[in-house]
Amino acid sequence: MTPRRVSILGATGSVGLATLDLIGRAEPGTYDVVALTARSNAEELARQAVRHKAAHVAIADPQAGIALKQALSDHPEITIGIGEPAVVEAAAMPADWTMAAIVGAAGLRPTLAALQQGRALAFANKECLVCAGSLFMTEAARCGATLLPVDSEHNAVFQVFDGAQRSAIRSITLTASGGPFRTWSRERMMQASRADALAHPTWDMGAKITIDSASMMNKGLEIIEACWLFDLPPEQVDVVVHPQSIVHGMVEYADGSLLAQLGSPDMRTPIASALAWPERMAAPVERLRLAEIARLDFEAPDLERFPAIRLAREVIKAGGIAPAVLNAANEIAVESFLADRIRFLDIAACVEEVLALSAGDADMPRSLSAFDDVYAIDARARQLARDLIADRISDPQSRTTSS
Ligand code: NAD
Ligand code: MG
Repeated sequence: MTPRRVSILGATGSVGLATLDLIGRAEPGTYDVVALTARSNAEELARQAVRHKAAHVAIADPQAGIALKQALSDHPEITIGIGEPAVVEAAAMPADWTMAAIVGAAGLRPTLAALQQGRALAFANKECLVCAGSLFMTEAARCGATLLPVDSEHNAVFQVFDGAQRSAIRSITLTASGGPFRTWSRERMMQASRADALAHPTWDMGAKITIDSASMMNKGLEIIEACWLFDLPPEQVDVVVHPQSIVHGMVEYADGSLLAQLGSPDMRTPIASALAWPERMAAPVERLRLAEIARLDFEAPDLERFPAIRLAREVIKAGGIAPAVLNAANEIAVESFLADRIRFLDIAACVEEVLALSAGDADMPRSLSAFDDVYAIDARARQLARDLIADRISDPQSRTTSS
């Protein structure tokens, strides 16, 4: 058997490391690790490269590049690329399967380069589809790439989505844990600290997606992601809060059947499903003991306390540049919240305000017809969000949530 050539973009992150964990458990000779990339964690990148005998590593941050060279000085067989273009070059190195697990719109260029190989692309980096869903899906079809959803909800839907029965599909449902603030009042959420928001009840993930889960912006981004992956209008994409995170996604058929995928909340299940697709492989995850779990609860999301879901539905309806603006504003707002510069409820307020500002902004591109437009919209929306937050900070009385 010839080994399968695999690359991992975002190899030092939560999804990247979970992917490498599965690869490391396989029989020797099953996988050939082509390229691993990261932003700045040189030590972890070097450790993973040595452990998995990667042929190539690339790191985006030039400073970290120096540390990476040092860390790999005893391994001349591993080639090294430094800087953002080097990450894109690594993504373009021939591989049969690539995990796209960079966080945020920073993943756009490398993920696109991987997709253009026309092979299998395991998709975790949802922000790419939020910013440029139409362009990505068109490019995937043009290049003959196979998109394998990794986000647990989308992977669940993918597993029970019968493409041959498309016309009989009534809706799909993404579940949401509800995050740490599911039962908090709005008053209490106003005072939520960074540590409160980072304490996710069921999933262990990177910081950005953990904050997105607390605001439920993650679910908003996932509705947009699902519309593109499954070619469905937003009316057919439902969200239900399910605090146990056992049922991940469902497909409802015309005959009344609701098909669901269940599993322990461990990303190694959806990653294994994408890695072995169309087959199945063993994953070291806790087996579900339903009698011990005893009950599964479901409730509707509260759109008053979690306006991010409403905002996401609004930007899908508006189309064009709006989803990319929402994503960029959210990335800046989350970064600012993590740096203790704004409060928790300011995140969604900032996104809403940047969306409103962008409509009348002379420097904002108006159309989105090529990837260059996406980069320009992303850059401009980030600037609007930064300016807005800087204004707020210089005038704390005007903070949205205190009014
Ligand atoms: P993380 O923060 O743990 O890791 C992010 C990875 O991206 C790191 O390897 C980092 O070095 C790399 N990266 C960040 N900025 C970069 C840049 N500018 N250039 C190159 N590389 C860069 O994030 P994560 O939790 O693993 O999430 C990754 C993606 O997967 C996100 O889009 C997230 O929404 C999605 N996702 C994650 C989970 C999860 O359980 N963590 C579940 C579903 C979806
Ligand atoms: Mg998810």
